[in-house]
Amino acid sequence: MTTAPSDLREVRHWIDGTTHTGTGTDTAPVTNPATGEVTGRVVLADRADTRAAVASAKVAFPAWRDLSLTRRTRILFRFRELLEQRKPELAELITAEHGKVLADALGEISRGQEVVEFACGAPHLLKGEMTENASTRVDLCSIRQPLGPVAIVTPFNFPAMVPLWFIPIALAAGNTVVLKPSEKVPSAANWLAGLLAEAGLPSGVFTVLHGDRTAVDGLLTHPDVKAVSFVGSTPVARHVHATATAHGKRVQALGGAKNHMLVLPDADLDAAAGAAVNAGFGSAGQRCMAVSVVVAVDPVADELVTRIAERAARIKTGDGTRANDMGPLVTGQHRDKVAAYVDAGERAGARVVLDGRHVRPDGAAGGFWLGPTLLDHVTPEMSVYTDEVFGPVLSVVRVRSYDEALDLVNANPFGNGACVFTNDGGAARRFQREVEAGMVGINVPVPVPMAYYSFGGWKDSLFGDTHAHGVEGFRFFTRGKVVTSRWPDRTEGGIDLGFRAND
Ligand code: NAD
Repeated sequence: MTTAPSDLREVRHWIDGTTHTGTGTDTAPVTNPATGEVTGRVVLADRADTRAAVASAKVAFPAWRDLSLTRRTRILFRFRELLEQRKPELAELITAEHGKVLADALGEISRGQEVVEFACGAPHLLKGEMTENASTRVDLCSIRQPLGPVAIVTPFNFPAMVPLWFIPIALAAGNTVVLKPSEKVPSAANWLAGLLAEAGLPSGVFTVLHGDRTAVDGLLTHPDVKAVSFVGSTPVARHVHATATAHGKRVQALGGAKNHMLVLPDADLDAAAGAAVNAGFGSAGQRCMAVSVVVAVDPVADELVTRIAERAARIKTGDGTRANDMGPLVTGQHRDKVAAYVDAGERAGARVVLDGRHVRPDGAAGGFWLGPTLLDHVTPEMSVYTDEVFGPVLSVVRVRSYDEALDLVNANPFGNGACVFTNDGGAARRFQREVEAGMVGINVPVPVPMAYYSFGGWKDSLFGDTHAHGVEGFRFFTRGKVVTSRWPDRTEGGIDLGFRAND
């Protein structure tokens, strides 16, 4: 049975503590990737909706900034407790719109929750410094203050975790937030907004603006938006960085990735094969930290490819609400694009060791299925190597030496994550020093830092200076001020117009 458009659920903006349809007349379909069915429609903001969202955040800012740190963090503590209790609900929403299996959806919420827990330590992280009697009777102190309304723009692949990289820290630091989530997976953002309200967050402090490029560009150019945290593909990250900095904003724009995993001759091949499969096919490869390229250093390739293929062939592809390992891709268009990379690689001479194009999924015929795919003898000129594929496709590139492997990784324009599998401490240490990537794994395939470290890549994987969460997160969402004070001493007098040397 097809659903009549009027029966479809409408996902609306969250402004001033409640949902709004807004004035924009465009909508986008919300689809269940496991069935291919349109399950709802999300409203798309026009310029007036964007202005209304920012205006609400601006009005809410002074009172939120002036609320004591104790009270602000108490709200975050309550939010953390509610999230812990109710995360299965959120996981179901994520699976219904993204397609990832429920266990994976729960996993991303837990990683986001860790940032909430970290942000509860804001009183410590926002402490300044104080120097008494720096010059005679002159004291100095440094303080950090919030910026104002900030915008957060997020991608489809982590509907809860990526927003939670930023929201708790921005709020704890005293900013108000306008979140523009991906229009492909809009519901998680509204769920988070509802939970924040239940935790006691005042109206207007957190806003969800749904939309596409129009909404994003409206935020990037709005004079009252003071900072932008963006996560998405590299071309859009570049655009966001250029536009927002041209409009005087502080920007961190995290882009795409092409993560390499080096396997050296002395590595434990079973461990390496298991890691490659988990990191390559988890979430159907739709993770910015997914391993996309295995670089097999002579003579490990034949044995490694056999072991990866054996394991990957056992992956159960299907509906994420059932007992499967890997769900569908997010849209039919994206599935076709990823499959086209496999076609092109095969035509260019790569060997298709495992072919996901003919997978028989445990799910509806209309789902956006592509099974685990393993390509061997991939070379750096092939499009499946040069481009970010963002699907369940693992490419194996064969090289003769460690130096050749390192050159390959460092020549790649992306620099998000990179890892090495070896039992040689010296080789691992050399890799750690020499590799040009922001996050490095040593016998760890997905080196995503904990919340109290910062997340971010190098080169085309991040535009801006600051990485997400950790101490850098607090620095991004605050600006520094240094106060020099001197109290009058009635015993001193006279006129002194000089710029005095400190004494
Ligand atoms: P995307 O770039 O298509 O969209 C990201 C956000 O930008 C969405 O909210 C979208 O509505 C908006 N947007 C899209 N086109 C725009 C345009 N022309 N102008 C302004 N805004 C626009 O990315 P996606 O497909 O949703 O997500 C996948 C991408 O995100 C991959 O490239 C992946 O590597 C990347 N990603 C990176 C990280 C990281 O930490 N570096 C993390 C997660 C995802």
